[in-house]
Amino acid sequence: MMEQEVRYMKLAIDMAKQMVGQTSPNPKVGAVVVRDGEIVGIGAHMKAGEDHAEVHALNMAGDKANGATMFVTLEPCSHFGKTPPCANLVIDRGISRIYVATLDPNPVVAGRGVERLKQAGIDVHIGLLEEEATELNPFFNHFMKTSLPYVTLKAASSLDGKTATTTGESKWITGEEARRDVHHSRQEHDAILVGVQTIIEDDPQLTTRLPFGGKNPTRIILDTHLRIPRSAKVLNDREAQTLIITGSQVAMDQIEEIQSEYVQVIKLEAESIQIRSLLERMATIGITSIYVEGGATVHASFVKERCFQQLITYLAPKIIGGFTSPSIIGGAGIKYMDEAVDLQTISFEQIGDDLKIVSVLKEG
Ligand code: NDP
Ligand code: ZN
Repeated sequence: MMEQEVRYMKLAIDMAKQMVGQTSPNPKVGAVVVRDGEIVGIGAHMKAGEDHAEVHALNMAGDKANGATMFVTLEPCSHFGKTPPCANLVIDRGISRIYVATLDPNPVVAGRGVERLKQAGIDVHIGLLEEEATELNPFFNHFMKTSLPYVTLKAASSLDGKTATTTGESKWITGEEARRDVHHSRQEHDAILVGVQTIIEDDPQLTTRLPFGGKNPTRIILDTHLRIPRSAKVLNDREAQTLIITGSQVAMDQIEEIQSEYVQVIKLEAESIQIRSLLERMATIGITSIYVEGGATVHASFVKERCFQQLITYLAPKIIGGFTSPSIIGGAGIKYMDEAVDLQTISFEQIGDDLKIVSVLKEG
């Protein structure tokens, strides 16, 4: 019996999973309606501002929703947002039993949707495939709990941890497959962040280039004194929004000269850029996740302030060597081993010839 329920919830999770990169700032959610052992409605939330998963699935089910069982990966909403509350719709359409994988991660509203369903006499079951459903939305969950964007540090290096040669040459260390994987990660995040030195030396586009296109995240450049070359691609290609973060000392006329429909300068109140306050500021403009692509100096700042949740490392089976060639994290380093940042590796896989390692910061 339980096997059937697991199968339906898996279907809901699978549909949600496919919406990677397109629902932010909303979570990925899937829903399935089952009546007499027959799937009569399926749906996923596809885009913020558009119908929630429950609405799609219930509309598809039509009259058959009456007396049916529903499977949904996230607690139905109970507030009027851009769309009316799904909990009301579930009740109105006559669903008699519902399986909810996870409660709303926002502690302020968690349980409210479920409460409303229970009050209406619906048989509510919470926690089926909870872990898988939680893993659908690490960025959303983190943002709801902390009000700060989820930060991924990304680095690509040789097996000996080097990101460039002694003369600074770095193209390419990893293979094509690994570089394509980076484009998948880009489109999952709301923003990509680099230091101005990376712009000066590499002039990257920082866009998502996949066979079917893809969403371009906002590009964030840390540039205390507005040193960015006026010819930089991120200023001129009009492919995505670019946000340049500067310190307080940059003159207004310099800022006005660089701003355009696609380029915005955010001048912070401090003379230098503190990562923690930067993240707070980014949260206020709706950025819920950031993919930090380096360079080593910028990575070092995020590590020093412990302002990241995961590190994705691509290791290429090459040896570069050399005391002066850069490694993935720069900065001043530490003196004692007990100051080292402890991570926990959650996955590793071979991509082409390279190794992808995903590690998360140990909490607390
Ligand atoms: P970064 O790209 O890390 O830029 C560092 C600069 O960013 C700083 O000098 C500073 O300039 C500015 N900045 C502003 N605020 C901060 C802050 N809070 N923390 C850190 N930096 C801040 O420079 P790197 O020289 O370390 O790296 C650039 C090199 O790295 C390039 O050669 C590039 O090719 C390589 N690279 C390699 C990658 C790889 O995966 N292999 C990925 C990305 C880059 P200012 O004071 O003027 O604001
Ligand atoms: Zn809803």
